[in-house]
This record gives sequence, C-alpha cells and structure tokens, in this order.
Amino acid sequence: MSVKIDMEKMVSLCKRRGFIFPSSEIYGGLSACWDYGPLGIELKRNIKDAWWRSIVQERDDVAGLDSSILMHPKTWEASGHVEGFKDPMVECKACHHRWRADEIKEGRCPECGGELTEPRLFNLMFKTFFGPVEEEAAIVYLRPETAQGMFVDFANVLATTRKKLPFGIAQIGKAFRNEITSGNFIFRDREFEMMEVEFFVKPGTDGEWLKYWLEERLNWYVNLGIKRENLRLREHTKDELAHYARACYDVEYLFPMGWSELEGIANRGDFDLTQHAKSSGKDLSYFDPDTNERYTPYVIEPSAGVDRSLLAFLLDAYDEEPDKDEIRVVLRLHPDLAPIKVAVLPLSRNEKLAPMSQDVHTELRQCFMTQYDDAQSIGRRYRRQDEIGTPFSVTIDFQSLEDKQVTIRERDSMKQIRVPVAELTKALTAKLAGEPFEVLPPGGSYWLGFEG
Ligand code: ATP
Repeated sequence: MSVKIDMEKMVSLCKRRGFIFPSSEIYGGLSACWDYGPLGIELKRNIKDAWWRSIVQERDDVAGLDSSILMHPKTWEASGHVEGFKDPMVECKACHHRWRADEIKEGRCPECGGELTEPRLFNLMFKTFFGPVEEEAAIVYLRPETAQGMFVDFANVLATTRKKLPFGIAQIGKAFRNEITSGNFIFRDREFEMMEVEFFVKPGTDGEWLKYWLEERLNWYVNLGIKRENLRLREHTKDELAHYARACYDVEYLFPMGWSELEGIANRGDFDLTQHAKSSGKDLSYFDPDTNERYTPYVIEPSAGVDRSLLAFLLDAYDEEPDKDEIRVVLRLHPDLAPIKVAVLPLSRNEKLAPMSQDVHTELRQCFMTQYDDAQSIGRRYRRQDEIGTPFSVTIDFQSLEDKQVTIRERDSMKQIRVPVAELTKALTAKLAGEPFEVLPPGGSYWLGFEG
C-alpha cells in the first residue's frame, strides 16, 4: 500500500527534515537552484553510488570518466548546441512573465490571461568569460550535458583501457541549463546533476542495444524500489527528436503533475563522433580487429537526472498509515538508498544507558551511516526515523545492561527482535542486504529474524 503525496507536502517534508533547501534562502532564494541538506546529500550520494555500481563496477564493458565542466567552445559548435540548443520562448505583454512556448495550451498567459508575444528562440546554455578579459573571443559555456566530455575523450579512453566495441563511457556530474520556466520543486533546475552513459556500438547493432538499455534502465529503478506501475516508456515522435537523435525513448514517472521524463535513452547514431572528428581534424573512428573494418561507432545514450530520480524515489517511497489516533509517515526507501541505515536510540537519557549505547554506536558507525538520538520519547524518535526512511533502529534498554542484548526495530513492519550485541553488526549487515539472519539466543531454540 502506498499513499500519493502532493508536491507541496514533499517540499515541506524535505525542508523540515533537512533533505532539500532553496538555494541562498536568506536572500530570498535563487529560482530553480537547490541545496541538499544533511539527509539529501546522503540520499543523493547513495543514488549516484547505486548507478555507478550497476553501470561501471559490475560491468566489464563500461569505463568511468570525470571530464571538466568548462570545455573548449568549439565543442559546443560541433555538437550543435550553439545553433540548436534552444527553446521557443514567449512573453506576456501584460505581466512580462516568460514561458516556454510548447508549454502554453490556451494561447494566453497562464498567469494573468494576457496576450503573448510571438515565440523567439532562446539558447539554454549559460555563458561566461574564460580568463580576465570579457570579450566575445573569451566566451565559454557551462556544459548543458556531460555527454560531450565523453565524446571528445573517446579516443583517450579507448586507447588507455584497450577495450573492444561494444563499450561505454560513464560519467556523473553537474550540468547547467538556463531553463525558461522552472517549478515542480527539483524537477526542472538551472543547475542539476546527470548520470550519463555513452555506449559505443557497431552500426547495425544499435537497434538491439537500444532495446537492451531500455530494459536495463527500467529495471534499475524497479530494483531500487520504484513501483513498476509508476514507470513507463514513451517513444519520441519524429518531430520531437533532438537534432542528433535517430530514435529516443523517455523513461517516464508518474509525478504529482502527471507522467514526466525521468531519463532519456537515445540512439545518437554517429552524429557526435563524426562532428567532433570534422571539427577537430582528429580521427575518432574505430578499427575492429575482429572484422578488419574501420568505422565510426554509433552510440546509445541512457541519460538520467540525479535530482529527478531523487524526487521520484522520495515520492514513490512516501507512505502514510493510521497508527492509533495518529498518522504514521514512512519513507519506504530501499535500504541502499536510505540516508541513515541504522539509528541508535538509548531508551532514555538515563546516564546508566549512555556508555553501552555509545559503545554500540561506535561499533556500528564503522560499517553503516548511523544517527545517535537520545532526545524525546522513544515513540517520537521511532516516528522521526520512519519519516526519514531509516530501515533499522537499535534500542538499548536497562535489560541490555544485564543480558547484553539490544532491540532491533524494523521500519516497514515495526516488528522488534532482540539480538545479542555480539551479533548486531552481522545481523544488520544481513538485514540491510535483504538476507535472512538466524541466531541462536543464549536460552534456546532458533530465532529466525523478523520473518520467523
Ligand atoms: P525536458 O524535456 O524535461 O526539458 P530534456 O529532454 O531536455 O528534458 P535531456 O536532455 O534528455 O532532457 O536530459 C536527460 C535527463 O537530464 C532528463 O531526463 C532529466 O532527468 C535530466 N534533466 C534535464 N534537464 C533538467 C533540468 N533542467 N533539471 C533537472 N533535471 C534535468
């Protein structure tokens, strides 16, 4: 069971619990820029780590890269971004609000109903000056995607890894787009992070690799807890396709404002490598030792947004359930994504409990992201951990001082079990990995964990 949450409620939870704050809030904020607080940064890192693990660590055919945000300006001419990375913009003649023309349904300003100007094209790349002189020749761009770093380094990565096709380059990093309209919380930002793969294949095999990556990427979201019914694939129509794309699908998520793009998976053909080879004069072709052919590879590009995924993971994990006279709010985040894995909660602030509780905490924090909390009643502390998605809480009580056992409470079922302190790390490691854990308690028969 899960409960649909509206965006306002999510914004409020994120602020209240320290996931996400508006950027430069004390100055009134900066539209479409956000700061990730103490819990938000953990969640974000866990998402990026999970992606990196599945794309780079667990595969032989993808290598990682961290290319610079500022690139030679010719990059963006060759890639078509200077000419083509534009959205049509209209302005309201009455209130001067600016809109993306393709988002306007009624032909009038959605804010005040005023008349709109004719659309004009607006380039979404942020410009800045490179070096001390502010002149035309010194203009560089903040990258609007990480992809181009992987194309211009194609030959370097190929030579140093001695990979054969098909092989990919993966990168996670910041991107910047001067979006005309913002809104929907962190869905559309002017500064955001991307997780992108450029997967180079032999022309002719691109169709099957596109299918492969569609499935692979859908499964990634599902395996990390997003409900399958809240995800769908949507194929781009011919007139929707970007200038470089031969085919493209969006992985869409059912956000509160409706089905919207979470990730784009495109067949970019040989557009980028061909353009950069032409523009730089460098050979970016590939010699296939198996067939003795030389060709320019095609590329399949799964391109995901970190911030949008984070929003989808939060929305999908949100749940409310009746609990006596109150409502229990739970973030049912996958344990791999949960910002805090284990909370250590002494039953009370009684000083007799402190030494053992701190010993337990010292041990656990070597292995997991933990949080120690001894303020307020134990019930309120459990609720707080539920609301931030902590899968397990460990409670130390007076009995623990006698029998050297502690209680583990599980977030989703709220079930509690007693475990010897000596087995605690092992038990939590198993439980966080979704494995059963059995222990023989001092007194007798087998105890089978939460399921037993
Ligand atoms: P949209 O149509 O929503 O503007 P797009 O098709 O331009 O997105 P892509 O260029 O395919 O987006 O970018 C790949 C991914 O990067 C998107 O699926 C999204 O997750 C993320 N992304 C793109 N633009 C933004 C943005 N302004 N804010 C946050 N994430 C973004």
